[in-house]
Amino acid sequence: MAAETAAVTDSINAAWSRRDLDVLWHPCTQMKDHERLPVIPIARGEGVWLYDFDGRRYLDAVSSWWVNLFGHANPFIAARIKQQLDTLEHVLLAGFTHAPVIELSERLVKLTPDGLSRVFYADNGSSAIEVALKMSYHAWRNQGAKRKTKFVCLEHSYHGETLGALSVGDVSLFKATYQPLLMEVLKAPSPDCSARAPHESCADVARRAAAGLEALLAEQHEEISAVIIEPLVQCASGMRMHDPLYLRLLRELCDRYQVHLIADEIAVGFGRTGTLFACEQAGITPDFMVLSKGLTGGFLPLAAVLTTDAVYRVFYDDYEKLSAFLHSHSYTGNPLACAAALATLDLFEQTDVLGANRRLSQVMGEATAGLADHPRVAEVRQRGMILAIEMVQDKATRTPYPWQERRGLRVFEHGLAHEALLRPLGNVVYWMPPYVITEDEIAMLAAVTRAGIDVATRG
Ligand SMILES: *Cc1c(COP(=O)(O)O)cnc(C)c1O
Repeated sequence: MAAETAAVTDSINAAWSRRDLDVLWHPCTQMKDHERLPVIPIARGEGVWLYDFDGRRYLDAVSSWWVNLFGHANPFIAARIKQQLDTLEHVLLAGFTHAPVIELSERLVKLTPDGLSRVFYADNGSSAIEVALKMSYHAWRNQGAKRKTKFVCLEHSYHGETLGALSVGDVSLFKATYQPLLMEVLKAPSPDCSARAPHESCADVARRAAAGLEALLAEQHEEISAVIIEPLVQCASGMRMHDPLYLRLLRELCDRYQVHLIADEIAVGFGRTGTLFACEQAGITPDFMVLSKGLTGGFLPLAAVLTTDAVYRVFYDDYEKLSAFLHSHSYTGNPLACAAALATLDLFEQTDVLGANRRLSQVMGEATAGLADHPRVAEVRQRGMILAIEMVQDKATRTPYPWQERRGLRVFEHGLAHEALLRPLGNVVYWMPPYVITEDEIAMLAAVTRAGIDVATRG
């Protein structure tokens, strides 16, 4: 009887989600939530839209975890992958090479800040962070500085989920449980401008945070290998933004105290903050730049670590010296992923993406400006194609909502019911849309976001 009823009212979505929940374990999810919340099977994607099996659609305002740049199933990128697929799907990258990985490396060297001249590949962001950490430590070791074994990360940082990457992160929700497994790191103050005092500017906060870092470096630089940072926007901890001045001060401090600078541009690279890379806004060259997410336009997993000739040279010696970097991943430099990345770079080259984004980000800002006056909104902040709205229990004292209330989840649910995929980070509702979003779609998103915040902050 129950089964019959189900058959009558069942949808294709429901059938897929039942099969899913029988066998899958989803990332970053308390699976019990799905007793109440549906898991949403997606049948296909086109541009900013995702379509489920029952004919509903969702505007992907978060670019499917910040990876998509030019829309789902982008035909240009898809065609280039298909072409590569019939030529060479994969070959090991040790002792062998292939055209897509050579071309991609040449172009990344050309596009990234001057001085970055070598590219090492991994297949996801966290693994690439491990590469940068190991390379930094190993480079100092090869130069005889064997005491340089520590890393400095910033308060509110996020660099991924593998144990090394998690160690240099500071989001306790992800980190606290695993603390006994992690390496010890030093923590410097965040230049997060949303935490400024009433009389302070973002540049003031940057100077104050840099002074905190300097105190740490002055005392312990002989044991410090590198400082790792998400330039301009600390994304995962709630889109916390800082003044480019901080990056200039950071570069000076790293030079003065002989410490590497690792720029994790996994989320902010490829035009997200208004320039192709965030470091450009400060005119700095890091010792390591880590790229992933948008690198393939959101099509395939790939990550790259760029570094300088100076770092490369201290590994280059006779084999017997055992100074080589013996790190590898099976799918290092996968040709299909490189083909997707080359197509993505072609799209940047063929059209004025950054110019178009300037217009779109202005429209995004205008569409949400009114929310700054919302009684339950602490701040609306934006850097290029990243816009964040922070909900707050008490606007005057900036008292956050207790996390247990899951206000962000209410926005998420409201969004789904109104054709928008918004996936707030705690109390921070944000947009990080594909660059192919239209002005009308931004207006639609603004209306859903405003209503969602109204609903979520009621009572
Ligand atoms: C997503 C992210 C990572 C981790 O990348 P994965 O591919 O998810 O492992 C690291 N750093 C930053 C800044 C990120 O946003």
